[in-house]
Amino acid sequence: MLYRTWSSLPITTSALGFGCMRFKTVDKKVDEELATKLLHEAYHRGVNYFDTAYVYLDGQSEPVLGRAMKDFDRSTFHIATKYSLWNLTDPEEISHVIDRQLANLQTDYIDFYLIHAVNNERMQKMLDLKLLDVVKKWKEQGKIRYIGFSFHDDYPTFKKMLDCYPWDFCQIQFNYVDKDIQQGLEGYRDLVNRNIPIIVMEPLKGGSLAHFNETIEKQFKAKSEDSMVKWAFRWVSSLPNVMVALSGMNEECQLQENLEIYDHFQEMTEEEYGFVEEMSKKFKELEVVGCTGCQYCMPCPFGVHIPDNFSIINEHSMYQNDRSARWNYGYLESLKGDASVCVACGACLEKCPQKIDIPNRLIDFANLMKEIRSK
Ligand code: SF4
Ligand code: SF4
Repeated sequence: MLYRTWSSLPITTSALGFGCMRFKTVDKKVDEELATKLLHEAYHRGVNYFDTAYVYLDGQSEPVLGRAMKDFDRSTFHIATKYSLWNLTDPEEISHVIDRQLANLQTDYIDFYLIHAVNNERMQKMLDLKLLDVVKKWKEQGKIRYIGFSFHDDYPTFKKMLDCYPWDFCQIQFNYVDKDIQQGLEGYRDLVNRNIPIIVMEPLKGGSLAHFNETIEKQFKAKSEDSMVKWAFRWVSSLPNVMVALSGMNEECQLQENLEIYDHFQEMTEEEYGFVEEMSKKFKELEVVGCTGCQYCMPCPFGVHIPDNFSIINEHSMYQNDRSARWNYGYLESLKGDASVCVACGACLEKCPQKIDIPNRLIDFANLMKEIRSK
């Protein structure tokens, strides 16, 4: 196992972290036998960073992790968990949350404590409720050791959040195709300049980087026999300041593949970084609709979520991930905003600065979805 020693804190973590958000479920209940088996195997093979959250899997993730790890020497592994602000209705609740989390995790302390999935609105809520004062008190009491945040919003919000507190660490979504969204590369560089250790979530973009458009995948294969998963992990874990890359492992084969990569880790060379950059540009060229997501076409009088439909088409063209397209399209259907709702009234056409033939592209997409669903 590859380990990283943190320059700013007296700790060493495995470069591969176990994300506990995706344990397999049966009838909405975590398959605890499988989850425990995978957690134990990861621990015995050297993984010492386990990431969960109060809200994951409807509150089942923390207790499952707690039960699985309770017999191991607590000093041999690190637990990261999160405070999920959006569930907070009564500010009085705040002081009780940590004790519930400690009980769930069957531990006296949490190593890494994060303000969960920060966006602009949640940052404001955090400031209004003076949440950081509460969390600092928990640190003084020894209930938590290090304070950080995980992030999902734009770069200006990220900058403001960085200035709120001298963070011990930070968790960001980062991979070689997501360098321009959320905090992006600029936010990553800010963390490096401030010497804030980084935990990366979604290094595989929720599994999308494991399955590619055939044209691109062939070019990767021509370069080396490495799997797409390996390319993605090597890209992230060779970057300065990245201490842990999280993977939500819920199958034996995933765990084995990831362990193999980090047992024989090869740092990515400058030349390889150049190659991946080139591939990622080609990858972006696969977008089938040049929608920038500007929203000028919205609202559609019939309720179509125009840019969200185009985002699904583009993602499908790039990753060819049918499962993800089905899931995302199903979500738009539940909102009655999917492409099939379009009646081709044309009201949006004039508003699109990209001159996209919106109704016809939506018809194409609705047909494509029929095809994907019939597979
Ligand atoms: S053409 Fe379709 S998407 Fe555009 S405004 Fe009319 S119904 Fe909405
Ligand atoms: S106006 Fe055009 S580019 Fe902007 S979101 Fe709508 S379809 Fe996309």
